[in-house]
Amino acid sequence: MRSRPFLLILLSHIILSAALVAQTQGSEPYDSLAHQTVKEALGSNKAYEMLSDLCTNVGHRLSGSPAAAKAVQWAEKKMQELGFDNVHLEPVMVPHWVRGPFERAYVLNPSGKRENLAIAALGGTIGTPKGGITAEVLEVKSFEELHKLGEKAKGKIVFFSRPMDRTLVNTFEAYGRAVDQRGAGAVEAAKVGGVAALVRSMTTRRDNVPHTGAMHYDDSVKKVPAAAVSIIGAERLSALVASGTPVRVHMEFSAQTLPDVESANVIGELRGTEKPEEVIVIGGHLDSWDKGQGANDDGAGCVQSIEALRLLKTLGLKPKRTIRAVMFMNEENGLRGGIAYAEKQRPGEKAVAAIESDMGSFQPVGFGIGDSAAYEKLLPWAPVFRFLNADHFQLGGGGADISPLARQGVPLMDLIPEVQRYFDYHHSDNDTIEGVNERELALGAAALAIFSYIIAQEGL
Ligand SMILES: [Zn+2]
Repeated sequence: MRSRPFLLILLSHIILSAALVAQTQGSEPYDSLAHQTVKEALGSNKAYEMLSDLCTNVGHRLSGSPAAAKAVQWAEKKMQELGFDNVHLEPVMVPHWVRGPFERAYVLNPSGKRENLAIAALGGTIGTPKGGITAEVLEVKSFEELHKLGEKAKGKIVFFSRPMDRTLVNTFEAYGRAVDQRGAGAVEAAKVGGVAALVRSMTTRRDNVPHTGAMHYDDSVKKVPAAAVSIIGAERLSALVASGTPVRVHMEFSAQTLPDVESANVIGELRGTEKPEEVIVIGGHLDSWDKGQGANDDGAGCVQSIEALRLLKTLGLKPKRTIRAVMFMNEENGLRGGIAYAEKQRPGEKAVAAIESDMGSFQPVGFGIGDSAAYEKLLPWAPVFRFLNADHFQLGGGGADISPLARQGVPLMDLIPEVQRYFDYHHSDNDTIEGVNERELALGAAALAIFSYIIAQEGL
């Protein structure tokens, strides 16, 4: 007869095993194909190959530019070569803002010496008058402070210097809390008689590279020019202002808005075998700012979407529902592609989910799911992503390009990467292929492939 302690050990072992089985059985059907997908993504390195090609042979591609037109052709050709289904363009009119041939700024020291400031005109701004603007700088940290100063802003270049909050772990949150200065700085400056807006760059990196981005005007307020200044430039200006003597700055740039141009969203898909009319959209935006190469923002999201389809196709995985890659045009300064995609009538079609990758090329950590029913349904599959450290599923998600689909009740989701480095690159000359790690990019593509495939098989 066996001893009691042995039976107890045996019993506890059985209970433990049962618990483990219960915990993992939900993910089982997808575990081995998830491993295969990751193996193929890392081994082939195709996402990086595509991104290098886009970055070096097309380069940055602001909406309306010849490079953006080239990018449209590039994406269409790429998806055709890979043998995707239904590869086509969906035309859309986009804004055409141009930076112009020069932009410069400097501090005019009382001695007459000039001290250069690295600036970048903000997207959508008017140019400065011929000969530029020379005026005293008024530094503020918020619109509230600016409006309290009121009259003092008259004739000044308003310098918005509130930094992204370094103490926040989520850099997107820090960005969100500072970016009003860039978007609305020109309008707020003009309301109190300011002649221009100069904004501390939205970045987490301390260097001398200015970061551009969208700004807007209000038709009821006088238009004044707006530019971003690098962090080193901004800190120098703050130090000069703090010294107490009036600081005079000259700024000059020739930006302008030209008539709209026809461009397109680029689309390709893997047709569903059982419910082809049910569609899972995955995508990023093909346009970028006219700085760097648009590698992390958002060449990465585009190639990850293409690569996700390629991975499934290469592994012979046939989704029951259609998975569609969409390269949206004009996310940065108009969102016209996202709006056009949502507004287009698609008879007989049902959008199941839309998943965006637009937070950079970094190590994937999981997915944001902006719909509680979809979140409940997808959460049991999180363990499939554990082996690549991407099993963090959170309630709340989406992306700019897919946001217009929310009105139709489509569950919006996004691939969440690690976020500490994204704003080092964002909208600046830093955003080149050198800022992309090929393994992290590939893992993101694989995660997107597995996630979209699970939704295609299971439905929502
Ligand atoms: Zn983006």
